[in-house]
Amino acid sequence: MADFLAEAQSLFEYTRSLRRDFHAHPELGFHEVRTAGIVAQELSKLGLEFNTGIAGTGVVALLEGAKPGPVILVRADMDALPILEETGAAYASQNPGVMHACGHDGHTAILLTVAKMLQAHRDELAGTVKFMFQPAEEGMGGAEKMIEGGILENPKVDRVLGLHLWNEQPVGWFGISNGPMMAGAEIFKIKVQGKGGHGAAPHQSNDPVLAAAHIVSALQGIVARNVAPLQTAVVSVCTIHGGETFNVIPTAVDMTGTIRTFEPEVRTRVLQRFEETVHGVAEAMGCRATIDLDRLSPATVNHPETALLIQTIAHQLFPDAAIESANCITMGSEDFSFLLEKVPGCFFFVGSANPEKGLDAGHHHPKFDFDEVALPRAAALMATTITYLLSSK
Ligand SMILES: [Zn+2]
Ligand SMILES: [Zn+2]
Repeated sequence: MADFLAEAQSLFEYTRSLRRDFHAHPELGFHEVRTAGIVAQELSKLGLEFNTGIAGTGVVALLEGAKPGPVILVRADMDALPILEETGAAYASQNPGVMHACGHDGHTAILLTVAKMLQAHRDELAGTVKFMFQPAEEGMGGAEKMIEGGILENPKVDRVLGLHLWNEQPVGWFGISNGPMMAGAEIFKIKVQGKGGHGAAPHQSNDPVLAAAHIVSALQGIVARNVAPLQTAVVSVCTIHGGETFNVIPTAVDMTGTIRTFEPEVRTRVLQRFEETVHGVAEAMGCRATIDLDRLSPATVNHPETALLIQTIAHQLFPDAAIESANCITMGSEDFSFLLEKVPGCFFFVGSANPEKGLDAGHHHPKFDFDEVALPRAAALMATTITYLLSSK
């Protein structure tokens, strides 16, 4: 087996310069034109076959090993966020108001490095690697659109792999869950409709502000009273808007928020109680509610055997590492879950923070930045895992 850690470390300059270039030129979801162009350019330098324009700006490359075998898909996301960068880094965003604040610049650079390393070892591979560079991970369904575009077929994918640089933890930490990893997410919009009127004559109105306030409180009872204590769910009302001035009871109040769950039965129960609570409380207050519910992504659930393999490889590559299989689960969501819903595989976290260097702001923060020494570590773990999965037995 090749020493991918040594190889990835010798490619550090390559990986870092790609990452810094992507970082300086961030692009929002479905607008990753420059990024996809550089990906295509690097893939052609490697002599890999690839297709562009999948789900808009997605790119897919194929690496055929010397012998036949399974097909492994490995994915990176390419999109940035609508955030004004405040890192002050030399490679800071040159596109004001757009920022790589989640680490997807790193993911794209890591995947190109993995492709470069595996291409150099293609004679040792039995099977095919499909490299998926996806647009629009941040809440816009890029992965789902690439699945609709046929990414899992021709050739049919047997296993999917993905990773996220994780700034909640330092370099040297890995989070590899044997099952649920990230929550499934729904977005909701509620409109509470009442009867407006004079603020001094509330008895002539049906106040949607009061109804909305009761709905917010009552929704807290779902997690407290309808979800088993050892299971998890989140119901968060995150925006509430209603009214224009101090002496007018408005006719309507709008609220938005999110629901997070792991198990399908918990999701069903929470959604049912959510609808009953919103409608029931609104009616009790003489108002009427309408609900608009959208599924953002299913839960990200790993295939236990694949997770175990990656944990074993991580232990071998990084004997001093902290490898977490339980305390790495988050209520955040990831659209990699759409791939895991169809094909077994694993999505894992690679610790990337370094508080001593001041590189520990959280994901989506205007000062977000990670320690780039995490890049070769992530690339080595991914390349070694793929090689294990494609070694002829
Ligand atoms: Zn993000
Ligand atoms: Zn992300």
